[in-house]
Amino acid sequence: MKIDEIDALGHERVIRFEDADSGLRGFVALHSTQLGPAAGGVRMRVYGGEGEALEDALRLSRGMTFKNAAAGLPLGGGKAVIMGDPARDKSPALLAAFGRVVEALGGRYRTAEDMGMTPADMGLIGAETRYVAGLADGPFASGDPSPVTARGIFNAIRTTSRHALGSGDLRGRVVAVQGLGHVGMHLCGLLHGAGARLIVADVDEARVARAREAFGAGAVASAEIFGVDADIFAPCAIGGILNADTIPRLRVRVVAGGANNQLALAGDGARLHARGILYAPDFVANGGGIINVATEILRIENRETWVSEKLAALDRTLERILSRARSRDVGPEEVAEEIVREALSRAAA
Ligand code: NAD
Repeated sequence: MKIDEIDALGHERVIRFEDADSGLRGFVALHSTQLGPAAGGVRMRVYGGEGEALEDALRLSRGMTFKNAAAGLPLGGGKAVIMGDPARDKSPALLAAFGRVVEALGGRYRTAEDMGMTPADMGLIGAETRYVAGLADGPFASGDPSPVTARGIFNAIRTTSRHALGSGDLRGRVVAVQGLGHVGMHLCGLLHGAGARLIVADVDEARVARAREAFGAGAVASAEIFGVDADIFAPCAIGGILNADTIPRLRVRVVAGGANNQLALAGDGARLHARGILYAPDFVANGGGIINVATEILRIENRETWVSEKLAALDRTLERILSRARSRDVGPEEVAEEIVREALSRAAA
């Protein structure tokens, strides 16, 4: 196994790892451990080259610093990427070798499941290191995070609606939901239970049929979800969907959903603000997922109470962000980043 330190501006530590025997190759980026050990999943996918893989690790680990800090967790931001096709290149030997990389970092990095990984893979990694979460079983195994993620988004929708529409009561509100996967389908259940009317889109027709049947949802083709006449848009599929092409088409007053990296470019937050659309910053709205994983990393005994308290605190953070954004007449994502920077400087002081 070869582990090399890489000089990466703006990050605390970045390493490149390579294990010739198992074919393991990739990067771990520790963006910040100011608030605690750097936590963030390991992603395995095919990259166009080492530059692209490194770029992904840098960007994602920075995002985890923001998400963990906004959720008020004693965790910093980190991420690992493994280069390769999970269907073809993943093997027990490769996962074990990755476990040894994590162990060598001595607990400064806590890994978990991300794209291309499964709970069973986490078990194989966990045979080599204590610093792994997302296990399928065990005393603190946290399981599927999406129900808690959906609860956090539901709170964010109510809070953002209170600011933009004058009330957090969702009865009769129309919500357009993009993506009916783990998060989107749970969210639809909560919205339906609160009396909202749903209009949904997914590239998977079977999921659309399920939402129609279970929640009486209306449906549109996936490209049309941006133009739906609704009160709220909840993106729960993929990133980059708020951009120069889609923002002018939106006919909603609120955007609050679970997808990561919803804004394609930094200026897209200002673009939404200029159109009078109130945006719940994604790394705040979807913080329920990492709160769920944190119960495992931090070995929380009284799980349900702790999760509920953290979700309530996350909601108060969003409330503060939206109030400050309104008084300064700027987009909430600008304030959300500021609030995280303030938390980091307090920790550094
Ligand atoms: P998922 O893979 O279970 O679901 C994604 C859904 O989006 C699928 O049904 C898919 O068919 C659909 N989809 C893909 N492209 C689409 C398109 N162009 N238009 C409409 N639908 C499309 O994923 P998930 O776990 O539900 O996560 C959804 C998003 O939330 C992702 O961005 C993820 O990174 C983010 N997120 C998830 C969690 C969690 O707890 N699972 C936590 C935080 C953030």
